[in-house]
Amino acid sequence: MLVVMQAHATEEQVRAVCEKIEAFGLRPHPMPGAQRTAIGITGNQGMVEIGLEELPGVQEVIRVSKPYKLVSRDVKEEDTVIRFPNSKATIGGRELAIIAGPCAVESREQAFAVAERVSRAGAQFFRGGAYKPRTSPYSFQGMALDGLKILAEIRERFGLKIVTEAIDNETLDLVEEYADVIQIGARNMQNFSLLKRAGRARKPVLLKRGMSATLEEFLMAAEYVMSEGNYNVILCERGVRTFADHTRNTLDLSLIPAVQRASHLPIIVDPSHGTGKRDKVTPLSRAAVAVGADGLIVEVHHDPDRALSDGMQSLYPEQFDEMMDEVRHIAAILHRSAPQPRTAAASAASAQPTGAR
Ligand code: PEP
Ligand code: MN
Repeated sequence: MLVVMQAHATEEQVRAVCEKIEAFGLRPHPMPGAQRTAIGITGNQGMVEIGLEELPGVQEVIRVSKPYKLVSRDVKEEDTVIRFPNSKATIGGRELAIIAGPCAVESREQAFAVAERVSRAGAQFFRGGAYKPRTSPYSFQGMALDGLKILAEIRERFGLKIVTEAIDNETLDLVEEYADVIQIGARNMQNFSLLKRAGRARKPVLLKRGMSATLEEFLMAAEYVMSEGNYNVILCERGVRTFADHTRNTLDLSLIPAVQRASHLPIIVDPSHGTGKRDKVTPLSRAAVAVGADGLIVEVHHDPDRALSDGMQSLYPEQFDEMMDEVRHIAAILHRSAPQPRTAAASAASAQPTGAR
């Protein structure tokens, strides 16, 4: 159910409606919009009739027929824009969000070398796994806490916001402490206990689409996070498994407009895992921006032949520079922008003071 408040409803009226919802053992999710506030209701609603229509400030009570509610445009018409404290970077705003970095943090030297290049190219966010979900237990599993500490140093040195993956509830506690965005990987898209834990986190969640997830399953996974009270969810298309064998996955760009029609959440594209092949990353990045994605998450490595994971799909830094340049042109056609390159001095100056997190 969804309560639509009148345009001039006061904060007290919104609060009174929320209290009444809670009194019935349900959870209210007030979503302020440009025109009016809507209050999503979650919990086992059965056939309860809680008589919210009569409360002051209420315009109407609507039954939401779709299985997903809080992610839906029915609850919130305007696009969600994710913001970060002490930063101009956004995800879902007019400027594209560019997240770049290696698949995994492999050493301090490696992570700094890549961070320096992607920062200069304009990326506002740095990616790099400290915990890697690998198909083989014998493959490199990530540097764990040491990797998170290196990422925190990168934030301080370059002013880049950190995006890194949590693979279970235990690592989520640590990732929440060290990162700016908590990544939930494709393999965990339906790990419901992890999604609920992410929903109680105080940091935005980047949710990757499962390898065989439908649009509805993907949005329901986001609903899990939101139902626990974390409304800062970013969706990510990263390719699905098909019979095609010229790529690692098939990047499903038609998902972008489909998600944007159904949901107010921002959606970005991962052309690296989406293709698995370096020569296809830039063309698919261009296409992702053209189709209307809110940003890109791209793997970049200064020495991909020696990368401990996903070297084949990692761009060389020069290729990333070029990709950014092309993407800027395409963004402009759509009345959007992509971040400008930074000089070495500017990228150091944008760093937060030491100790800030
Ligand atoms: C990654 O981003 O490195 C990763 C493991 O992605 P996915 O979960 O999409 O496979
Ligand atoms: Mn990877």
